[in-house]
Formats: sequence, structure tokens, C-alpha cells
Amino acid sequence: MKISSKAKSINPSQTRKLFDKAKKYNNVIDFTLGDPDFHTPESIKNAACCAIMKGKTKYSANAGLINLREVISKRILLENGVQYDPNSEIMVTVGAMEALYLTFLCIIDSGDEVIIPSPYWINYEHMVRMCDGCPIIVDSDYSNNFVVSIEKIISSITDKTVAIIINSPSNPTGSIYDKETIKKLCDIAMEKNLIIVWDECYKNIIYDEERYCSILDFPQMKDHSIIINSCSKTFSMTGWRIGYIAAPKELIANTTKLQENIAACASLPAQYAAIEAFRSDYDIIKSMVDGFKERRDYFVSEINKIEKLSCKLPQATFYVLVDIRKTGLNSEDFAYQLLDKKHVAVVPGITYGECCEGFIRIAYTMDLSKIKIGIERIKEFVNEL
Ligand code: PLP
Repeated sequence: MKISSKAKSINPSQTRKLFDKAKKYNNVIDFTLGDPDFHTPESIKNAACCAIMKGKTKYSANAGLINLREVISKRILLENGVQYDPNSEIMVTVGAMEALYLTFLCIIDSGDEVIIPSPYWINYEHMVRMCDGCPIIVDSDYSNNFVVSIEKIISSITDKTVAIIINSPSNPTGSIYDKETIKKLCDIAMEKNLIIVWDECYKNIIYDEERYCSILDFPQMKDHSIIINSCSKTFSMTGWRIGYIAAPKELIANTTKLQENIAACASLPAQYAAIEAFRSDYDIIKSMVDGFKERRDYFVSEINKIEKLSCKLPQATFYVLVDIRKTGLNSEDFAYQLLDKKHVAVVPGITYGECCEGFIRIAYTMDLSKIKIGIERIKEFVNEL
């Protein structure tokens, strides 16, 4: 069968490759997938069950249920003090992934460039390519905590640049953009008339009372930014596939129009579940975030006891980047040998850009007893090198 050159040009994700390979072994400790092991809170599950039993199993409006858009709008107002009109400035999507894809379809013309600070979530690069855009990867340094250099961003801007993607808190680094850097990015965006695609999918998984700075803390950015978020990580709802876009009405009118030809709408029972999620007081996720924090603290302290490995304490998410440079292995060899010899799956840093070579990414989305076994095996592996 004929397969398009575009489809052929997209490589399968390393994370999935490792995840699939890991399934071939018994007793694997799998640190690869960003899929929280906590259950979706009961009240949210009940809302979906209730919707199904009441026959709410049909299509919704392309932009999603208005009640859901209203609770999202209230949530943004509460967290950021910025008003988005639920009728024209918010759209419900099939996860943040579809939100990003629809966004890129609407802002990229063939050959347009999109700046992606590295380390970065690989899907950004693939999606930009799928929309005939040109991803421009801007590297950063570990010595500077992988904070992107504003000078490098500025020198990467050309007359074809349309947008900069910012993911805060970040997958894979687990760090949060500081206010000063965001301010500088805002100034650039305003000056050069660029859009900031602001992916804040992990913004509710933050530790140590860290103050999260949003692009919306700069109210003038409402017209220059596209906010992407979802229920997946916040409420442990990855499989429900509910996300949203909050953006100026010209964009929402177009993403909504395209939705008719892509998914029609997000799953209706899942939308009812999301209403319950967004209107909750978020106390329902406190035990999950506390649980992640306990694992983070344990993981980081134990890894730092292993000679040749080190890692910094991430401020957010459930990811840690581990520095493996002293082992002498590159990140791919490290990941595949660790899987083959010790049945522990991790993602090679190179997946997230060249500046992330020499690192592996761990997702601590499993209980402490398994994390302990995983660390023991990593220690044995490193000691036997
Ligand atoms: N953005 C980032 C940075 C992610 O890491 C992910 C998923 O891992 C997504 C977006 C997609 O999330 P969703 O499950 O809502 O599609």
C-alpha cells in the first residue's frame, strides 16, 4: 500500500519503543511512560458513569459542552485572574495532544518556523512537521539548569518564525520557567509579533510551595498566547482524553471548524467527568501530589548515593533527569543495556534533544516499593560497568 512521505518521515517515539521492548521481559520496572499510577478520583469516575447511565453518549458541539467550557473559564479566572469567554475563547479537545495539533494546523503555513527550546517533548517536533512547519530546536545547558538562553532564542528568530513553544513545568526536566525568563519571552513575542504556545499540562503537580508563574501573569499576553492544558496529568486521567485550548477567538473559531473534520468532539461521558474535575476544589489531587513528592525525594536522594550518577531535585512533574555522563555510556546504550541486563526501562535523554545526551529520564509513576527495586537494579548495573 502507498504510504505518504510525510507519514514515513515521522519516526516512532523512543519512549514507546522502550515501553514495547520492556513488555517482552517479566518483572520489568518501567520508568518510561508519563502515566500516573494513581486512580482517577471517585467523584470524577462517578460523574462519567452517571452520564453514561443517563444516555449522555452522543456527539457534543465541536467546541465541547458549554458547561465544561464554563468551568474551565472559571478555573482560569481563579488561577490567573484572566477572563476567557467560554462561548468563543475556549475549546475542549481530545487531550492536550489534539489541542496542540489543532493549534499548529491553524497557525502554521508551509515552511513557517516554530521555535522549540530543548530539552523538549518530542511530539512538538513531530506535530510541527505534520503541519508542514519547520521546528527550530534551541539547545540549553545543564550547567544553567537547562534554562533556555534568551539570546539564543532571539538569534533563532527569522521572518518565517510564527511561534515559540514553552512547556512549564517541563517534561522532561521537571523545572518551572522563572518569572524573569517568561517576561523576556513575552517582550520578544510582543516585539516580533510571535505567538507563545504555552503548554501547562503539569502546572498542578508542583512541590515545595513553588510559586508557578504563568504567561497569563502578564495580562497583555492574552492576545499573543495559546494556552494548552488537560485533565490527563492533573487528575490522573490520561486515558479519558480531555484537554483544552484557551486562546483568542480567531484561533478558537478555526480550531473548532477543523475539529468537525478530525474528531467531531471529545468523548461525551469524559466531558461530564471533566466538568466534575475542574469544578472540584482540587483537594482530591492533594494526596497524589504528596505521593509524587515523597517518591521524588526518595528517588533523588538514592540516585545521588550511586557513584557515577547524579540528579537535581525537580520542582514539578513526576520526571527526573539523571546525569549518566560519568558512566562513559551514551544515553541510548545506557537505556538498552539497562533494560536487557537488569530489566529496568528508562528513556534515553537524546530523545529530548542533543543537549540532553548524557542523561536519562525517569518517570516515578509507580509505588515506592517498585522504585526501590528499580534503584537497586540501576545501582547493580552501574557498579558492574
Ligand atoms: N504536553 C506535554 C509536555 C506532555 O508531556 C504530554 C503528555 O505526556 C502532553 C502535552 C499530552 O497530554 P494529553 O494526555 O493531555 O494529550
